[in-house]
Formats: sequence, structure tokens, C-alpha cells
Amino acid sequence: MQTIIIHYSEIGLKGRNRNIFENKLIKNIKAHIDQLGSFKLVHLHDRILFEQQDSSDISKIKTSLLHVFGISNFSFANSIPLDFEEIKKQTITIAQKNKFTTFAIKTNRINKKFKISSQHVNEQIGGVILDNFKNKKVKLKNPDLTIYIDILYDQALIYSEKIKACGGLPTETAGNVISLISGGIDSPVASYQIMKRGCQIIFCHFHSYPQTSKESQDQVKKLVSILDQYQQNSKLYLIPILDLQKQIVAKCSAKLRVILYRRMMMRIATKITEQENAKALVTGDSIGQVASQTLENIQAVSQSTNLPIFRPLAGLDKEEIINIANKIDTYQTSIQPFGDCCSLFVPDSPETKARLEEVIKNEQELEIDALIKKSLDQLVIKQF
Ligand code: ATP
Ligand code: MG
Repeated sequence: MQTIIIHYSEIGLKGRNRNIFENKLIKNIKAHIDQLGSFKLVHLHDRILFEQQDSSDISKIKTSLLHVFGISNFSFANSIPLDFEEIKKQTITIAQKNKFTTFAIKTNRINKKFKISSQHVNEQIGGVILDNFKNKKVKLKNPDLTIYIDILYDQALIYSEKIKACGGLPTETAGNVISLISGGIDSPVASYQIMKRGCQIIFCHFHSYPQTSKESQDQVKKLVSILDQYQQNSKLYLIPILDLQKQIVAKCSAKLRVILYRRMMMRIATKITEQENAKALVTGDSIGQVASQTLENIQAVSQSTNLPIFRPLAGLDKEEIINIANKIDTYQTSIQPFGDCCSLFVPDSPETKARLEEVIKNEQELEIDALIKKSLDQLVIKQF
């Protein structure tokens, strides 16, 4: 029989709240793999076991588990009786299946009633490999093959691979946040980073349809569907802002347009946090990357809301952001060339050092509340 062993690192450090995190993690794992087979759950002190009750598709389970926050690594192990001869037999089978010169045996004896110590199992099972295979060497640091043996109460688990998972904290342990998502490279990565810390992300996308194409909205939907694999049940607000942009264009300084668009986006997103019981906003800004992301402009945009704004990419280079985008599989979708509302009616040399007094003075020309209401009245929600 096969058993999936799930290890979680950071949750293990949570003192009195540990239960809450573990239960949420178990619930999230179940939601990801339940439809892939039948499992029996066993929760030991520092790991969770899912014993497979049927022959389910391991590669699908692997893909699913790679999308569950809170798991640090997982393995597919063979469950065998708690018997030294069985352990030897299984070790030989695993060794036969792998190409290696150097190897290590790593035993973890949870069941202290098992009479042979971990060190002793390591030595004896290591000896079995040396006796049965030619030209093999024990190497404890970075061996070609590691065979893990976990001695539990009613069984031993034996496996040779620890699959690194995405880490972080289980979804829904931190609360709701609203992420401002464009079709670009950065905001999906920013959403992922905050999602990783246990936040449920609600997505907001602002568009200037029909000035910008329907395809640009489809691109955002596709990005959300990729990110939805990590949290499930995602919600995307599609919010029209063309009228608001037109008023900004008609009444305010051309240099300040992007900043004024952004401030309106922040205000609308802030209204949505009230409906969604969300406590913060997320954007994909990276300091200095483009004109709208100078410190002065970031400050001018931030001042439009009282909510915390998380900018998890603030300190990352483009290359580092692209690496994450590739890892989470959003990059190829993000580079499709569809116009964003922010590039609409924007002058060649936008303001790079906005002064707050000037921004506020420009806004006095706008019917801010009415414009916000209009956008909110016309928004569409897509549920994933
Ligand atoms: P991205 O790659 O996320 O589009 P960017 O490098 O193009 O970012 P900007 O266009 O300056 O940078 O946007 C900065 C941030 O503002 C974005 O990361 C996103 O959080 C938010 N944003 C920009 N345009 C939109 C939009 N149409 N809808 C929602 N949020 C947006
Ligand atoms: Mg962009």
C-alpha cells in the first residue's frame, strides 16, 4: 500500500494556534486530492499521512499537492509491516530501481518501542546494500540515493524522494485581501506571494472596455484561473473605469493621469474590501521599475486609502519576478500583448515625482463619489 507523507515546517512553530493551522491544512489538502482517490487520514505529531485505499494516479496527486500552501515537502512511501526482514526486502527493491553510486539510509524512529535504534537501522540496512550491490559507497552529504525509513507504531514507511512543495501558510488562515490584478507579469506574482502567507485573495481588475479589448479581460481571467489552483473558489471583480478616465483626461493635468487613475482604483478597491471583509490591498509595484513606481508616486497613490497596501515585489528585480512567474506558470499568459487601461490616454512623459498637494488640487475638479458609484454599479463578478 502507498502512503503520502506530508511535512509542514512553519506551522510546526505555531504555539497555541498550531491546531487551527493543522486543521486548515488538512481541510485544504482534502479539497485538493479528495476527487483523486480514496484516502485514510492519519495525523501524527509532526506529519500528516494519507493512506491510499485504491490505486489512484500519483502524478495527478503530486500536481495537486504542489498547489497547497503550508506543505514544506511530501513523499510517496511504501507502507510495510514493522519487521526488519521486510525493511531489508523493500530497501533492496528500491535500490534496484535507482541508478546510484553513493547512498545514505536515514531512519526516523517515532516508535521508541521498536527495539533497534535509528543509527542501528541505518548501519544494518546500509550493510544490506553493500552486501547486495557492487561498487556502492555510503555518503551522508548529497548522496545519489537516500532511502528514508520511518518507523511508526503499526508500520514502517520507506521511500527515496522528498518532493519540495510551495511552503507558506495554509489558505484561509490569515484573512481576505484584495489584489489589484492587471494582465501584466507583476501583479499575478504579487498575488501569489501574499496568497502564500495564508491570505484568501479576491481579485480586482479595472478595464476600459470598449477602448481596450475583451481579450485583455480574458487574459486576466486566465491568470486568475491559474492562481485559483492554489486557493480555489476565487472571485474576480471586473470593473469598468472608462468614464472615470475620460473625466480625468478632460479635467486634470495630463502628467498626473496614471496617478489619478491609480488613486481611483485604490478607492474603488477599498469599497470592495468592505463587502468582502478584506483588510488590505495588494499591488505588483516594484520600486523604480516604471514612472508610476517612484517613491513619490507610490506615496501619492497610497495616500488615497487608509488600508495597508502590500507590495511584495517592492524589492525584487524584474528578473527575479519573471523567475517566480515562470515557476507558477503565469508568465506565458502575462506576456500576451493586450493593452491595459493604465496606458490609455497617457502622455509620453508622465510625472515621476508627483506632489501630493498638486494631485489633490487636480482631484477637486472630479466628481469622485459619483464616478466611484458608477464603476461599482457596472462591475461584473466572475466566480471560479
Ligand atoms: P503589472 O505587471 O502587474 O501590470 P506593471 O509593471 O505593468 O505591473 P503598472 O502598470 O505600473 O506596473 O501597475 C502597477 C500595479 O498597479 C500593478 O501591479 C497592479 O497591481 C495595479 N494595476 C495596474 N493596472 C491595473 C488594472 N488594469 N487593474 C487592476 N490593477 C492594476
Ligand atoms: Mg501593467
